[in-house]
Amino acid sequence: MIWRYLDPRSMAVTLALTAMLLAAAIQLTSRAIGSRNLGLSFSSRGLAMAALGFMFVMHRGAGPVWLGPTVGNGCILIGTGLMLAGTQQRLGRPIPWRLLLAIWVVGIGVGIWFGAIEPHLHIRVFLLSFLLFLEAVWLTRLAWTEKRAPYRTGMRLMSAFGVVFAALMGTRMLSAALDLNVETGQPTLLSAITVLVGGMSLITANLGLIYISTGDLKKRLEHSATHDSLTGLLNRQGLRQWLNTLPPNSMIALAMVDLDHLKLINDRLGHAVGDRTIQRLADLLESVCTDTCKAVRMGGEEFVLLDADPRAVQVTEGAERVASAQFVACIEALRQALMRQEEAPQTSLSAGLSAGTVLGFEANLRVADARLYEAKRRGRNIVVVS
Ligand code: GH3
Ligand code: MG
Repeated sequence: MIWRYLDPRSMAVTLALTAMLLAAAIQLTSRAIGSRNLGLSFSSRGLAMAALGFMFVMHRGAGPVWLGPTVGNGCILIGTGLMLAGTQQRLGRPIPWRLLLAIWVVGIGVGIWFGAIEPHLHIRVFLLSFLLFLEAVWLTRLAWTEKRAPYRTGMRLMSAFGVVFAALMGTRMLSAALDLNVETGQPTLLSAITVLVGGMSLITANLGLIYISTGDLKKRLEHSATHDSLTGLLNRQGLRQWLNTLPPNSMIALAMVDLDHLKLINDRLGHAVGDRTIQRLADLLESVCTDTCKAVRMGGEEFVLLDADPRAVQVTEGAERVASAQFVACIEALRQALMRQEEAPQTSLSAGLSAGTVLGFEANLRVADARLYEAKRRGRNIVVVS
């Protein structure tokens, strides 16, 4: 029979080592990518630990009778718990360390008590499988709650691992409860399938982590394509994307903002100081941003502040759209705030305002630009509204 050649122990070693190597590779590449990897570190370490435990459990009897089950199950319990911690962190939720610690302490206690002090195979297997079952179900449900597109596939694969793992532990629990022979380690069809499925689920979890780390990379690439590296504000591409999310007929107020005499600052104090001056203005603009209000660096020292809040636009009697008094006051406040800054060199801004629909954005931008030009012509450090 074919399964006689599928020795569970050697398969367990091969699959566990593969899973451990993959987990190490994920750890290394994600560090090399330099993403913040929220949760990836806990998850990949946990996965490697669970794989190590899997190997230990499959080699029970190789050392002292209690060593395999105690250390092995302990590793799986802690490993799966770390995967839970990582998933929790990835989802931006606090890690329930106390609960995890309690599960680990109980599990290791059960292993030592029913493994070495008062040996009882079925009670030990039942209780440990129950704790592992709990962790697996928890992980499955948690990973399933991921809604963000770049991480969904990866998290679904983590859930798949959880489902398989929970099924295996459930079966073990049941056979221990029914007093069946639970731990033979002999090459039977059932043990071959169990080890194959268990080992493959570890590799599936690794695939999940690879998907998640690819999601991180995708997000970073997307961010750098849509944001300016000096100021962190949106760039033109980011602006286009944001405009595309708005209904074409919705109203938008905009201000074209430009630093006064930046060339002089560059010439006198150097480009580093010029850069810092640009960042100061960017920080000011950013401080008024909301869900509907965005600041964009159009290039050089030219910025646009856009507000899609209906209150930012006002329709005049002649049916012309203009920036509302509220939006004008906001830009005027920014101008004064920049002038009041104590950091040297003292600098100021000029701005030109306009308003209209999202559809007519380019035309409105030209109007604002003409008004900015007018502000410069009138001597700078002013806001031109009409
Ligand atoms: P104005 O008041 O008419 O706007 O004068 P200005 O000197 O600010 O404007 P001008 O258009 O004559 O020159 C813009 C300067 O902005 C020249 C350019 O070197 C500088 N600049 C553009 N981008 C950057 C940047 O990223 N860093 C620094 N330090 N300077 C920049
Ligand atoms: Mg300028």
